[in-house]
Amino acid sequence: MRCQRGVMPAKATAKRGGVKALAKSAPPKPGRKLTRAEAAELYAALAQDRPDPRTELDYVNPFTLLVAVVLSAQATDKGVNRATKALFHIARTPQQMAALGEAEVAEHIKTIGLWRNKAKNVIALSEALIEQHGGKVPHDRAALEALPGVGRKTANVVLSEAFGEATLAVDTHVFRVANRTGLARGTTPDAVEAQLMKITPEEYLRGAHHWLILHGRYVCLARRPDCPRCAVKHICTFRAKTPA
Ligand code: SF4
Repeated sequence: MRCQRGVMPAKATAKRGGVKALAKSAPPKPGRKLTRAEAAELYAALAQDRPDPRTELDYVNPFTLLVAVVLSAQATDKGVNRATKALFHIARTPQQMAALGEAEVAEHIKTIGLWRNKAKNVIALSEALIEQHGGKVPHDRAALEALPGVGRKTANVVLSEAFGEATLAVDTHVFRVANRTGLARGTTPDAVEAQLMKITPEEYLRGAHHWLILHGRYVCLARRPDCPRCAVKHICTFRAKTPA
């Protein structure tokens, strides 16, 4: 099947550092904001390229999705998939993960960034799920965000991917693409998320996160966007487009 923590220091650090890093990636020369009609046209073009966008994280159930998204902070999806392949083979439930213990989880994920804190968080969130939610991933934003290692972005991904809710998680790629194209203008992920939720037509809400993330990962690259082969270059208002 295919498809972004109670250890407070890691959670707090990741949130503060993440916002700073995201703000740094804002475009130097923002163009004007898109109209709703232009936003619809942009999503339609992205949807044409990828009619069924999906997360590139591998998971087998809501719990493994939650763990994979927690592990994906400051790590690539490919790196997370390599680490979780063996881990999810032996631990697919909070009970199995908690029984594995922090040292064994750490051994599986030590190829990805922040692995020590992530191992602590995976065990802590597994225990919290067992103690507070009967071993199930809660279908509730506040309950998700109260779990160790889970912030707004992770909760948004789980609510959308596992429960089909129209949420829009803003990671570094979504943040950059939204600012460059003119879909949103903001210096924080929360500000960009609020604007994206307003301007994104309802029919594109479920796929918007994936379309924007994949566009940022493969076309609208951070250092040198590939504007000449971009499917939305005629709509995007970024003033510093890469010349052909
Ligand atoms: S035209 Fe360039 S800056 Fe605009 S979305 Fe495409 S790749 Fe990104």
